Amino acid sequence: MRTGIATVCLSGTLKEKMQACAIAGFDGIEIFEQDLVTSALSPEAVRAMAADLGLGLDLYQPFRDFDSVPEELLKENLRRAGAKFELMSRLGMDTILVCSNVATAEIDDDGLRAEQLTRLAHLAGEHGVKVAYEALAWGKYVNDYEHAHRLVEMVDHPNLGTCLDSFHILSRDWDTAPIEKINAEKIFFVQVADAPKLSMDVLSWSRHYRVFPGEGQLELAKFMGHVVRAGYAGPVSLEVFNDVFRQSDVERTAVDAMRSLIWLEEQSAKWLDANDPGAAGASGTSASGRRRYPMELATLPKVAEPAGFNFAEVKADDTAGLEKLLGQLGFEFEGRHRTKDVQLWTMGHARVIINEQAPSHAEPAIAALGFDVDNPVIASARAQQLKAPVVPRKVQADEEVFQGIAAPDSTEIFLCQGSPDGTAAWTHEFGDGLATPSGTGAVIDHVNLAQPWQHFDEAVLFYTSALALEPAPFAEVPSPTGLVRSQVMQTTDRAVRLVLNLAPLIQQGAHAGYQEHIAFAVDDLVGLARDARDRGLEFLQIPANYYEDLAARFSLDPGFLATLKELNLLYDRDASGEFLHFYTATVGSVFFEMVERRGGYDGYGAPNAPVRHAVQYDHARRATDPRNATTKYATERSRP
Ligand code: MG
Ligand code: MG
Repeated sequence: MRTGIATVCLSGTLKEKMQACAIAGFDGIEIFEQDLVTSALSPEAVRAMAADLGLGLDLYQPFRDFDSVPEELLKENLRRAGAKFELMSRLGMDTILVCSNVATAEIDDDGLRAEQLTRLAHLAGEHGVKVAYEALAWGKYVNDYEHAHRLVEMVDHPNLGTCLDSFHILSRDWDTAPIEKINAEKIFFVQVADAPKLSMDVLSWSRHYRVFPGEGQLELAKFMGHVVRAGYAGPVSLEVFNDVFRQSDVERTAVDAMRSLIWLEEQSAKWLDANDPGAAGASGTSASGRRRYPMELATLPKVAEPAGFNFAEVKADDTAGLEKLLGQLGFEFEGRHRTKDVQLWTMGHARVIINEQAPSHAEPAIAALGFDVDNPVIASARAQQLKAPVVPRKVQADEEVFQGIAAPDSTEIFLCQGSPDGTAAWTHEFGDGLATPSGTGAVIDHVNLAQPWQHFDEAVLFYTSALALEPAPFAEVPSPTGLVRSQVMQTTDRAVRLVLNLAPLIQQGAHAGYQEHIAFAVDDLVGLARDARDRGLEFLQIPANYYEDLAARFSLDPGFLATLKELNLLYDRDASGEFLHFYTATVGSVFFEMVERRGGYDGYGAPNAPVRHAVQYDHARRATDPRNATTKYATERSRP
């Protein structure tokens, strides 16, 4: 698959964008007109630079508002086109994107449109240029790719073909199967973009919220499957207008973009394998049994979803607060590592590493997560082919080697050898070497990671592609500082649940600090909470109003309600079961949550999340503002 990307996806100058695309490994780029117009580089210099970087200049775009106009305007449009064709010859480019008319279309007549496009094709032919005509989802008369293709057929000129853009097609819910009926020679270009499902006008949706494949909810593998079956073998190019990507680090975004195409290529091959009728064993098939198509699709090392969490690691300069919390919760201290300043704490199968090798004054933070996988080397090879940065970890000769990669928020992800009995060989490197699961069946239930705003979409793709987690539809949780966008990434059996939170900007500043947590599931939460209270645990204090609301929402046994209130427990219930949970106070940016899932309850107590955010916010404000250190809530509120 020939990979491409439009320069409009990235931040920076044209030169910076081109360099980043080359570093990320793209075969070619689309030059977005504005990037050239605003560039200090001459067309000849751009051409030379692309040649030096080994980048193809695959598409010049966009040329707007050509068709369906009165004759006077058409003449002007042809003059405009001629000037661009001449510019393209200086750039050494041969394909231009012409999108269906939005602003100046006046005459809705396919006969006239075909005639006007014929004149454009003739002019293009004289300059050796190919015109790829694209139906914009919001085109005034042409907004459907099949309509655009019908016009191309009516014109029947070698210099006019069509451009298929997944966003314009899928945002309108057009059926993608008829793509296969298009003569591949008439598909001049293919653009791909994903998007979250939003209900808003399609133009704003497209201009601001497109994301890279795998970061949204459009059925891109199916779209690509039909494109491949049509026989198309040209560039597959990202065209993603996104407010965040356009202000993020250019090289990093280019790598994220490349990862999305590598992933899409694999997903497209999978879709074809699953949907290719009778291909297996037929002549002209590849080793995988897939029918051969003009577009070759590369695949990746295959991994199953992880079997569970192997460990969670928190890191701090001063670890006393963490040790105290874990001890009060009932974790057992298993000992220190033989050679490193690292401690192991366990409860049942839940393992927490406290890493003391942090820079001085570093506050406690979640530093690493270990996942149980079938084969760490294969999983690591896959992640590296998806351009995940490798995390070096020093090991002694007789210690287990961890395959580590860095997640977009710089959390270190370790791919560990899972074992059916839930043990981990590396625990023998700690204490007296006898760390075995003990007592309750506690496990890590979920981990909640705060994502920097500029890396949120990248993180979704990272966990989807490298770790085979499935994104659930995202939710928005109200908090005192704004809405917190929350995205659950999980395995089918829910053995791994990762919650990515995009905190409002204010929470990412120094004032409140972002907060992350590790949640452990136990069998008897009430009993554990009582023991923890007796050991002096500082619970997150839940307001009395919450329990009144709980009593109104659910008909609960008064004794049970009193227990919840007494222990600061939160409660939720749905058709499949019940959920009890509580939170500890926060140390640094970390707190812990203990949960009990009853029946088939599959959520995270979402109705309780606003309560947690509000209490933590209040707590953090009072902790950081000296004027509030000893004052009551009412006094604090009366400040100007
Ligand atoms: Mg497009
Ligand atoms: Mg939670």
